[in-house]
Formats: sequence, structure tokens, C-alpha cells
Amino acid sequence: MVAPTHSSPDYDVVIIGGGPAGASAATTLAKAGRRVLVLEKARFPRFHIGESLLPYNRAVFEELGVWEKIENAGFMVKRGAQFWMGDGSRHNRLDFSQGVFTEFPEARQVERATFDQILLDHARGAGAEVREGCTVTRHQVDADGVDVSYRNGGGEETVRASFLVDASGLANLTANAGSLRDAYDGHRKVAIFSHFAGVEMPGGEETGDIVIVRRANSWFWLIPLAGGKTSVGLVIDTADYQKLGRKPAEVFDDAVATTAAVRDRFHHAEALDELRVTADFSYRNRSLVGDRVVRAGDAAGFIDPVFSSGVMLAMTSGVDAAKAVDEALRENVAISPAMKRYEQRVWRNVGLYWRFIEPFYQTHFAQLFFQPANKLHMVCAVNSVLAGRTDLPLSVRWRLNAFFFLAWLNQRVPVVERIKIG
Ligand SMILES: Cc1cc2nc3c(=O)[nH]c(=O)nc-3n(C[C@H](O)[C@H](O)[C@H](O)COP(=O)(O)OP(=O)(O)OC[C@H]3O[C@@H](n4cnc5c(N)ncnc54)[C@H](O)[C@@H]3O)c2cc1C
Repeated sequence: MVAPTHSSPDYDVVIIGGGPAGASAATTLAKAGRRVLVLEKARFPRFHIGESLLPYNRAVFEELGVWEKIENAGFMVKRGAQFWMGDGSRHNRLDFSQGVFTEFPEARQVERATFDQILLDHARGAGAEVREGCTVTRHQVDADGVDVSYRNGGGEETVRASFLVDASGLANLTANAGSLRDAYDGHRKVAIFSHFAGVEMPGGEETGDIVIVRRANSWFWLIPLAGGKTSVGLVIDTADYQKLGRKPAEVFDDAVATTAAVRDRFHHAEALDELRVTADFSYRNRSLVGDRVVRAGDAAGFIDPVFSSGVMLAMTSGVDAAKAVDEALRENVAISPAMKRYEQRVWRNVGLYWRFIEPFYQTHFAQLFFQPANKLHMVCAVNSVLAGRTDLPLSVRWRLNAFFFLAWLNQRVPVVERIKIG
């Protein structure tokens, strides 16, 4: 028998990052009886953008056993999504309870500091070890494990595991190290955002709705949070932003002032925080799995946030990545067919949203989107995907295809009235 060249692993799995993807992976692996260590750079609770969840997140909460904690945390209930034209002339509301293919009628709008803390504490409760204030700096894979080095206060330490799950978010640690990251060409965006008090948001049955406001080549999100707070952000093309040559606050204030659908809600608005800016957040990695390494959540790739899919996709991929790793551990292999299937599933799910995101910025699609007729329940099919449904039955798939066909046709002949977008 050949003696192992490396020491035996301290953990079955080390996870980089304790956000929604990392916490979901940690809970799943710990429940499967694996020894798990989460290394998280920040100390929780910490601010994070990405506050509007989708109804289908509920399925993941239930699978993790954390739904009751989320339900009782006092978050704002979200029942719909409103898409407004910038000039306020028309809007389209997706009511999740009216989608005949949508199984969950509501979601939550969350402050991520609280939400992420709940998920990470839940992972701890399931048996995962979590070390906060630990920044992973590098990893080294060999035949029978992976060494993961991290900075902890002053010093550097190294732990050894059989597998590494990279859930480092937009830091995209292992893919950057392997030069695997590709930006989406023609989709470079800047987001400028903050929290506000006093924003006039929809009331009554529509309380809790996210409001998306489409401008000519940019858009706003307005997300109502508990306690009278509203998260407001502007997403604008990087090239347009650079051309303006102005400070973020000036760009934001000017966009509010020139967008009736936002300006009318801002008469008594007061910023509660500084404005934050993030840029070029949409990208994909050419590979999501390698020997003893799996990437999940934003560290697998991230798409424009217009349909609020980020957290749901991150948590789903965290759970799926954990299951694939668990199987590889059982089979005692460095890479398994389950890991490859995981990669395909993530790409398929991202592709499903990408199919809506690119056209959202195009006039022919926006014209149809803002004048929906629920013929043949096509709008209900769209409703289910925008609620976060990713496993689509044939009844939804053919309706979606019909919807996209109409949008394509609308470029050539008017399928709906030609309205000005923005
Ligand atoms: C402008 C904008 C608006 C968005 N709006 C929405 C929305 O409304 N709804 C929605 O669902 N999604 C939204 N998203 C997306 C959402 O924020 C992400 O998809 C989600 O946070 C991904 O979760 P994650 O766990 O993969 O990554 P993260 O939540 O980013 O967690 C990664 C964790 O890794 C840690 N980390 C990073 N580097 C290291 C390291 N070297 N060592 C140790 N730890 C490390 C970080 O501190 C962090 O805690 C938005 C994103 C953007 C950019």
C-alpha cells in the first residue's frame, strides 16, 4: 500500500463565504453528516445588496428547515412585482397568486444583514463550524484533498479538506484565480443604490410589491422593507455612466428628477445611508466544477438583478452543489458525474433568466411586456418563471416559447401597439 503524501483532511468540506449560497451548502452538508467549515471574510450581521426574494425561494427554505425562522422574522411580505414605464403612463403588475402555473403566492423583501445572519446561524445549528473574520487567500488542490489558506486577524492559517465549495460571491475567488471569468459582452452595468425613508410605495393589496421602473436605457428598483424603509437603486449602462462624467449622487438625483414614476414617490424621501456603487456585476465562469472544487451562487456566475433571481439561484445552487459534493465523497472520487450534472443545471437555470433579461432592454420585447394579454395563459407562464420556477412542465415551456415568438415577431410586424419605452 502506498502511504498518503498529505495529512488526512481536517474537514470533509471547506466553504468559502457564508452568504446565502455558502450557508445553504453548509446546512445541506452538515445535515448529511459531513464535517463542514465555513470561512467568512466579514463579521455578521453585515450589509449586502439583493433584498427582493422570489416565491420559489420557499421551496429551498423548506428543504433546509429554515422556513419557520424566515416566516417569523418580521420581513415584508411580497405578493407582486410591478413594472412601470418611466413616464408613469402605464404599468404591468404580476400578481403571484394569479399565476395558474405558480405554486407559491408570495415571497419576502428582506434586509440582508438579518436574513443572511438567520441562514448562517441555521447552518451552525445544523452542525457546520463557522469562522467569521477569515479571508481566504488561496487554495491548492492535490490528489487527495485541498489546502485552503486564510488570513485571520494578523496571521495566516491553512486547513485541509476533501472538497472546497467556493461561495465567495462576486469575489469569485477560485474562478478568478483560474482566469475562468467572462463578462457578458454588451451588458456592462453600474448600480447606484441606498435605503430611504418616506418613499410612497403601493398600498392595500399591493403593499410589499417591488416596483421596477423602466427608463429608456436604464431602470430603477424600489423595494419596500419593514419599518418604512425602501431600498432604491438605479442600474445604468457603464458606457452611459462614464459619458456623463458626474458623481454617483448627481447621476442618481438627476435620474430621480427626470423619471416621473420615481419622482412622484420621492416627494418626502430622505436617504438613510450613503449611496453605494457597484459595477460590472454580470459575468459567467467557463467552468463550475473541477477536481475537488465546486463553485456556487454568484461565484458560479451572476446575471443582471432586474428579475430578483440572485438569492433564489444562489441558494438553489448551494443546495445542489452540496448534494453533488456529498455524492463525490461517498464515491471517494475527485470529480463525479453528479458534479457535471450540477454544472449543467446551474447553466440551464441561469439561461432561463437570461432569456428574459437581454430582451428586457430591447424595445420589441418591452412593448409586449408592458401590454400583456393573457391569451392562452402565456402571461401565467411568464409569471411562474419570474416567481422563480425553474423546473418547467411542458405546459409552461410551450407558452413561454409562444410568448418569445410573439416578441420576435413584434420586431417585424406590430403585434401590439407601438408605444414609446421609458
Ligand atoms: C445591484 C444588485 C442588486 C441585486 N438585487 C437583488 C434582488 O433584489 N434580489 C435577489 O435575489 N438578488 C439580488 N442581487 C443578487 C444577490 O445579491 C446575489 O445573487 C446573492 O447575494 C448571492 O449570494 P452568494 O451567497 O452567492 O454571495 P454573497 O451573498 O455575496 O456572499 C458571499 C460571501 O462570501 C464572502 N467572501 C468573499 N470573499 C471571501 C474570501 N476571500 N474569504 C472568505 N469569505 C469571502 C463575502 O463576505 C460574502 O459574505 C443583486 C445584486 C446586485 C449586484
